[in-house]
Amino acid sequence: KFSHPHRLGLGSSNPAGKIPLGLKRKGLRIVVTGGAGFVGSHLVDRLIARGDSVIVVDNFFTGRKENVMHHFGNPNFELIRHDVVEPLLLEVDQIYHLACPASPTNVVGTLNMLGLAKRVGARFLLTSTSEVYGDPLQHPQKETYWGNVNPIGVRSCYDEGKRTAETLTMDYHRGAGVEVRIARIFNTYGPRMCIDDGRVVSNFVAQALRKEPLTVYGDGKQTRSFQYVSDLVEGLMRLMEGEHVGPFNLGNPGEFTMLELAEVVQETIDPNAKIEFRPNTEDDPHKRKPDISRAKEQLGWEPKVSLRKGLPLMVSDFRQRIFGDHKEGSN
Ligand code: NAD
Ligand code: UDP
Ligand code: UDP
Repeated sequence: KFSHPHRLGLGSSNPAGKIPLGLKRKGLRIVVTGGAGFVGSHLVDRLIARGDSVIVVDNFFTGRKENVMHHFGNPNFELIRHDVVEPLLLEVDQIYHLACPASPTNVVGTLNMLGLAKRVGARFLLTSTSEVYGDPLQHPQKETYWGNVNPIGVRSCYDEGKRTAETLTMDYHRGAGVEVRIARIFNTYGPRMCIDDGRVVSNFVAQALRKEPLTVYGDGKQTRSFQYVSDLVEGLMRLMEGEHVGPFNLGNPGEFTMLELAEVVQETIDPNAKIEFRPNTEDDPHKRKPDISRAKEQLGWEPKVSLRKGLPLMVSDFRQRIFGDHKEGSN
């Protein structure tokens, strides 16, 4: 039977920092559900580079083979087309569970991956979201805040799905002793992000590149905190390897209004890009900004890439995907 190297020396009596790191580096088998997606594919790059064996489980709902194609032929890499709503039998040490469309399947998929973790004794990491805070009445948001979520609104499916996923994760932890980790991810951007899924950063960048007006919803005074993908991946890996269950906010505390974001996009891509106001969507959170004290203290993690530094890196990728070449220009 397979072993669980990460379990050696772990446990509540083990003080933080005393994990035998050398042991953990040998041949971990890691599943990344949603590994062909934006965040997942960057995570896979880091895990493969570290020398671990990675199995990507993805149904290509929003993910793309192109995101992981550079690993084809590597014996440490495997890609399985599979919907996590269906049970899955694998033997692994760690599960990064990222697969998630905004629908109830996120709950069933999470249940299956927790069942898998329980059966094989793998450590399970859930990528939850800042959306669990809803339209927050606390600012910035700490992990102790329980949130302000409309259970029947247009966004509820995603928010409540992730809240339920967190509940299931903690139930499997308490009830079945599964080793779990919970990350609450704040808005993240970077290369390989879906171009047309309607997120604000991808919208603005694609619009500016295509010489279309930037569509600001509402009055544009609502705020978000934007994190560059490499910072997130570093946080996810520290969380998985560390001692603490969480939940942990993983986000960049830099807070921007949507109008400020539009300005940064103008500065980065096209100073002449126009702004067009559109009606806002229902239940849109007014502001969001992570308090990352817990992650700083317990994971020794904080973001390093500012929006002004990270945006150009995403722009070159988008330029290439939209125009199919590298155009010299305003970047
Ligand atoms: P993404 O859409 O690029 O990645 C999700 C991946 O999961 C895709 O490859 C998709 O094909 C796959 N997938 C979806 N449903 C599946 C299913 N039933 N079975 C198998 N595969 C399935 O999104 P992302 O931005 O990379 O997000 C990754 C995770 O991080 C998600 O759980 C998301 O909720 C969470 N998150 C992301 C952000 C962000 O700003 N990007 C913020 C908060 C939370
Ligand atoms: N599951 C899975 N792979 C496994 C083990 C379980 O996909 O290796 C699924 C299983 O089909 C079930 C879910 O995970 O739908 C929860 O499993 P668990 O054993 O916790 O619950 P039970 O099957 O006892 O209700
Ligand atoms: N938004 C916008 N223009 C767009 C897309 C989104 O002004 O083209 C706004 C949206 O109303 C919200 C914010 O940007 O206030 C962030 O939206 P996104 O969907 O990217 O993230 P989330 O709302 O999930 O945090």
